[in-house]
Amino acid sequence: MAVLEILTYPDPRLKQEARPVERFDEELRAFVRDLEQTMRAGPGGVGIAAPQVGRFERIVVVDVSGRKETASHGCMALINPEITAWEGLAVGREGCMSVPDYTGNVVRAESVRLLARDPYGEALEFDCEGFEARAVQHEMDHLDGLLFLDRLVSRRNDLFRRKVYKK
Ligand SMILES: [Zn+2]
Repeated sequence: MAVLEILTYPDPRLKQEARPVERFDEELRAFVRDLEQTMRAGPGGVGIAAPQVGRFERIVVVDVSGRKETASHGCMALINPEITAWEGLAVGREGCMSVPDYTGNVVRAESVRLLARDPYGEALEFDCEGFEARAVQHEMDHLDGLLFLDRLVSRRNDLFRRKVYKK
């Protein structure tokens, strides 16, 4: 396994749209393991998307189980994820491994229903809420070339410099 290099803003590759995964093979599963390890190597990493490491395929990993008082499905490796329903709106603070110096307040759906494939190609369905739903939406944005910076209502009011820079 390997910790992969993270692309950081304003790298133009972060704006690239990712294509669907077509081959569910051992190479994909090895990549998903590297992606998960890369997420865990970051400070407070709760999610990661393949484009953040320069692979432009629709793959995300989300794991919010380390956060207390948060509903969680554990570690979810989601291939070709789609949101099929959503409910409610909430504002919450987000960070991103590709935007290490800032956090921001972002409006997201409070709960989402999610369809995806696992790394073996089996169909998955999840109902996510709260912080897990937020993390899924954040990571799926990376697949469409969007960062949380693109979702701020106001950079002046909703963008915050991190007090402690952790590398
Ligand atoms: Zn991110």
